[in-house]
Parts: sequence; C-alpha cells; structure tokens
Amino acid sequence: SNPFVKLHPYINEKSSMPELNESPVLLIIGTRPEGIKMAPVYHALKRAGIPTLICSTMQHTQLLDEVFELFDIVPDISLNIMRQGQDLFYLTQAVLQKTKEVFLAKHPCLVVVQGDTTSSMAASLAAFYLGIPVAHVEAGLRTDDISIPFPEEMNRRMVSMVAAYHFAPTPAAVANLLVHGVRREKIFCTGNTIVDALHSVKEKIQTKELTIRADIKERVMHAQMDGKEIGLFTVHRRESFNGPIDATLQAIKQWILEHPDTMWFYPFHPNPSVIDAVRNAGLFSLSNLYICEPVSYKELVYLLDRATYILTDSGGIQEEAVSLGKPVLVLREKTERMEGVLVGLARIIGSDPQALRDGLEWAASYQKNLKSEVTHVYGDGHASEKIVAFIQAHYDELQQGIKKIVVLRQEV
Ligand code: UDP
Repeated sequence: SNPFVKLHPYINEKSSMPELNESPVLLIIGTRPEGIKMAPVYHALKRAGIPTLICSTMQHTQLLDEVFELFDIVPDISLNIMRQGQDLFYLTQAVLQKTKEVFLAKHPCLVVVQGDTTSSMAASLAAFYLGIPVAHVEAGLRTDDISIPFPEEMNRRMVSMVAAYHFAPTPAAVANLLVHGVRREKIFCTGNTIVDALHSVKEKIQTKELTIRADIKERVMHAQMDGKEIGLFTVHRRESFNGPIDATLQAIKQWILEHPDTMWFYPFHPNPSVIDAVRNAGLFSLSNLYICEPVSYKELVYLLDRATYILTDSGGIQEEAVSLGKPVLVLREKTERMEGVLVGLARIIGSDPQALRDGLEWAASYQKNLKSEVTHVYGDGHASEKIVAFIQAHYDELQQGIKKIVVLRQEV
C-alpha cells in the first residue's frame, strides 16, 4: 500500500485519469551533474521496459543540452524556467508550480530526483504535496553544516525529509540517513550512478565511438609527445569566489611557472566574477595553461583519464577522479565526499596556498610511484541497475498507489 495515500485531504486538484494504463516513472533533471548521474538510470529503466518520462527543468540550459546529446536523451517535457539573473526564490517557486502542473497532467507513479539542486528540492516538494512517492538518487550526502555548501546541503536534507525511497551511494551515506532519522527499510545502498556514466563514456572514448574535440585532443597529444604531464583545474562554486580565491589562484600560477613540464587545462564558466579573478591572477598569460569554456562530459572524462594533477571544487569530479584511482586536491573547506579522503586519494586543501603546494607535490609523487587503479568506494558501475531492479520489484505497488491517489483527487 502507498503510505502517501493518507495525505489525500490536502489534495484538492481535480484531474483526469491517466490515458495510459500504466503511469510512468518521471525523472527530474535540472543541471549538468543531474543529467550525467540520471542518464544511466534513464537507460536502465528503458531497458527494463518501464514507461519513463524525463522532465527537464532547464536550471542549466546549454550545459544540460550537451549532456542530453551525449547520452542520447530527448527530454519529454522541458520547463524552460531559466531567466536572466534567476535567484533561489524565483527558481524554487517556478519549479514547484511547473512540476505540479506536469505531475497533474502525467500522473507519475514515482518521481525520481537526484542530488541536491534547487530543482530536485522543489520538484520533490511538489510531488509530496500531491501524494506522489519520491525516490532520491544519491541520498545521504551530508556535511555537518546546513549552510555548507549553500544551498545544496539544505536541498538534500529537504529531499530526505519527503522521499519515500533513498538510494544511497555509499555505506557512509546510509549511516548519515539513519542518523537523520530515515527508516532503515527505506534505504538502499546502490553505489553512485556517476561511476556507471564515467565507465560507459570512458569505454566509448577508448573504442572511438566518441570523438574528442580537436583543441583539447591536440594539446593533450602534443604535451604527451613532449613528455609532459597533464593537469586539470576546475573551480566554479559560488563560495570559492566569495572566499580567498586570489591566494589560491596565485599559488597555482606560481606552481605552473615553476613546472613547465605540465600542460594544464582549466574549463570554466565565463561569468564576470570568475573572469575578474582569473585576470587579476594573471592566469590568461600562461602558455602551459589552456583556459576554455566548460567542456562537454566526454572531454572532461578524457582529461581526467590522462591527468596527473586534478584540482577541483566540484563534487562530481572528486568522485570521478577517485573512481579512476587518481589523486585529487579538493579546493573546499569541507567535503560531503569523505570516502575519497579515507581511501587516501583525495586531500582537502581549502584555500591554504601551502597545503596546495604540498598537495601538488604529493600528487606528482603518487603518480610516479603508484599505478592508478580503479577504486570502488563510490560504486561498482552498476548502481543504475540496482535502482531499477528496486523500482521494478515495487512497480505493481506503485501503479496501485497512483490509481488510488487519482481516484481520491477526483473525490475531493
Ligand atoms: N563537468 C563537465 N565539464 C566541465 C566541468 C565538469 O562535464 O567543464 C562534469 C564533471 O565531470 C562532473 C560534473 O560535470 O561529472 C560536475 O558538475 P559540477 O562541478 O557543475 O557540479 P557538482 O558535481 O559540484 O555538483
């Protein structure tokens, strides 16, 4: 029985019965990382023959379109809510309102959200208000501070409050959910779907099914022919640019000047605060640093796979680097992805220039002395199949649940 049916007194929307016999599973995707991490779930659902719809909130536009293209996904519904200067108030209410309309029109038996974005949070709230069960992919990540990272930590805690099923990527995430009061029988430890995406893209690069953009590939090949190492640097988080980013950028510049034996790549969002910081640090003038607009995921995987140095404030890149067995330096004060630190592959650098230099020395010697070996702390590459096996096992129950909800809605 569906535990949400009892909420029917709050549901006063009149809506028609679904035209189809079966109600779809509906995936919400708003940003690039959600696209990358949901793509394997989508394809696994399709393979299982489960009717599935993708609703793209388009919190990111161009970055997300590239992901859809790469993974051969055409969203069924695009909410197109992105506005110039959008803030959290606008985004939250726009996603809440528009997903409500979508849910009332499509009658999903399950809404699946991923991670910690404002889209995930607001869409899961809309589903909750309508009595539709929510499944949370990548559930249970936590820092000890609700405002770090902001607003993501609050978003994922809120999704945990309303979700019916929690797909935790790691045992540590399971433990966090238990500490936060989630019932054990609602938590499923599946691994992180990013490992599924990473390995599938890496394989397609190896078999040349995917081709790499010429500007990136040529620079990598030239560097390797000259016996140079590859470095990947990404910093994009809002809080990184509110904090002492200048000292970090100076330390990186110093290192790059002292080590001409490495070719660095820095894909970044060309927003004014980033451009100012990069210009002030004098990074544009370095010949062995290639600064470009964000690269598509296949280029990112290509670079990660070849990099000796990985320096990032991104959550996903921490998981990817560690999964490829590569050392990664984390340009944040706190990480909700401690597995990499505990397995000895990630170091938290924060904004301390000395820690950064020490970290770079460590990464250099790590790669010289040890061969990168794939690690499974974030999953074995089969997370999406485990998630879909769960959905399949509960499919009839979910169908019965939504039928009851629709009938109740009509009676209100
Ligand atoms: N990524 C990408 N191109 C880039 C930078 C990142 O495809 O230029 C990928 C990266 O591999 C990871 C995801 O985007 O899978 C991370 O997204 P982001 O750093 O925006 O978010 P976070 O992981 O911090 O939530």
